[in-house]
Amino acid sequence: MSVVLIVEDEVHLAEGLRFNLEAEGYEVHIAADGETALDRLRTSPTRYDAVLLDVMLPGRDGFEVAAELRRSGIFVPILMLTARGRAEDVLRGFESGADDYLPKPFELTILLARLGGLLRRREWLTHTSEPHAKPGRFTFAGKTIDFEALELHSGERTVKLTLMEAELLRYLIGREGKAVSRQALLADVWGMREDTDTRAIDNFIVRLRRHLEDDPVSPRHLLTVRGVGYRFVAEP
Ligand code: CA
Repeated sequence: MSVVLIVEDEVHLAEGLRFNLEAEGYEVHIAADGETALDRLRTSPTRYDAVLLDVMLPGRDGFEVAAELRRSGIFVPILMLTARGRAEDVLRGFESGADDYLPKPFELTILLARLGGLLRRREWLTHTSEPHAKPGRFTFAGKTIDFEALELHSGERTVKLTLMEAELLRYLIGREGKAVSRQALLADVWGMREDTDTRAIDNFIVRLRRHLEDDPVSPRHLLTVRGVGYRFVAEP
């Protein structure tokens, strides 16, 4: 049974979500503010399979909570609940380490689909029993991405990747040398098909370049394709 932590201060919303998620077979815990959520996740970092994190919280907001979790080395998948029509929230959410986002108010079926998607990807990346069915490791230019551990090894340095960073890399690496559009990335990696701000992708790429590139300002692997999107090159 997957265990989900809901971080939401509006009691009726949190309880409504709990009711619906329990009906779907999830074990659900609620934290009414960011500090409580951080305490729980720091105390039991592997207890939760996913976090539903509202942006609007008393005290530390959802962005701060996500960033603090990632700084603490906790890489639980985060689905961030943002205010509708606030593109800057989406960008900040990804920047702070969220894996996916959903604008409020949302349809329950969409929330369940997004949550299920995050959990399936985590399962697939970390626990699949068919070794040939997963990418495992990918080595290029002296760096190794370990998709199972969600880590990038570069010399002595090890960087933790979030689930969606790993997914995005896997997707680009699978299409090595080919230009991939932002729309295709949003549709295939995040499963988003409508009116999404494609700048969210650019933020992810900036973060990945910091991990992958020796000089993130002059990338050699994660290249921008003007007017289209991005292209991954293993050995430039
Ligand atoms: Ca709230």
